[in-house]
Amino acid sequence: MTEAIKGIIMFSGGLDSTVAAHLLKSQGLSLLLLHFVLPFYSGLGNGHERIRSLAAAAGLPLRIVEEGEPFFVMVRSPRFGFGKNANPCLDCRIHRLVETRHIMEEVGASFVATGEVIGQRPKSQRLQCLRMIEKRAGLAGRLLRPLSARLLEPTIVERERLVDRERLMALAGRGRQAQFAYARANGLRHISPAGGCLLTDIGSARRYHALARKYPGHTLEDFKLIAYGRHFSLGERCRLVIARNDKENEIFEKIISDEDLVFDLADVPGPMGIGRGEFSESEIIDAASMVARYSRVRDSAQVRVRVYRKACAEKILTIEPADPCRCNEFLM
Ligand code: SF4
Repeated sequence: MTEAIKGIIMFSGGLDSTVAAHLLKSQGLSLLLLHFVLPFYSGLGNGHERIRSLAAAAGLPLRIVEEGEPFFVMVRSPRFGFGKNANPCLDCRIHRLVETRHIMEEVGASFVATGEVIGQRPKSQRLQCLRMIEKRAGLAGRLLRPLSARLLEPTIVERERLVDRERLMALAGRGRQAQFAYARANGLRHISPAGGCLLTDIGSARRYHALARKYPGHTLEDFKLIAYGRHFSLGERCRLVIARNDKENEIFEKIISDEDLVFDLADVPGPMGIGRGEFSESEIIDAASMVARYSRVRDSAQVRVRVYRKACAEKILTIEPADPCRCNEFLM
């Protein structure tokens, strides 16, 4: 018989959550790793091999949550605002902890654990914030931070001795030496701490804030697109996103909806463009000429561009590639 799960660990695969998982597993607890996938990478048929292999290396079962509409709703109006870029970290932490609590309740577990360290991040990991976050997530007393546990109030599961507090850590601050030393000593595999969330990236943040400002009615599908391509605002009613490489072309193939206007080169391989909104005839020509500009036939006098909607007949336009200055005028 499988042992009942006692705790859920929010597992990014990074150094801290890997150490947290190992500290708890070493106590013989039955655990479940929970990994959240940002909406940009959800619904694309990803196998999430990397995180699966890290969970297998940790010797623990894994559940993957691909985020969608609820995450998007949270980003649209974060109660605690954004960090430096488009990262609503406090709201995001609370949102994910609420989701985790639901899973904790569903599987009958007693606690949730994270790899958080007091004072590691300027805002979301200050002591006061840690307390506020757990309260708002409905996890007061049930949220364990194994890396800083001995500096924090004992949780219910420590008081009840389900978890041995003395075998947890007392780390604080931004240094990572202790975690690296622990990982080395125990042969732990983890993702490099350098990897970051797309919402903390300056370019993505600029695209997101421009999208939110210019197109207040934008949807989850529009939000997902900020992770990819070059973005152009052709007017109040329509915009264009052009893939930057083959990988983005492949992703575009998966995210094109029936309403999207698709642009690609008729005679040679090249970037795909996704048009969203209502296009006039002249805006279609502008978009086609911009797609041609970002292709390897940009210096040709005339380029043939296919324009179509999924499941509809295509139209071929023969156009002159746009002038780079004209493209820059529309860049978001
Ligand atoms: S960095 Fe990104 S994923 Fe992490 S808490 Fe902030 S918004 Fe959420």
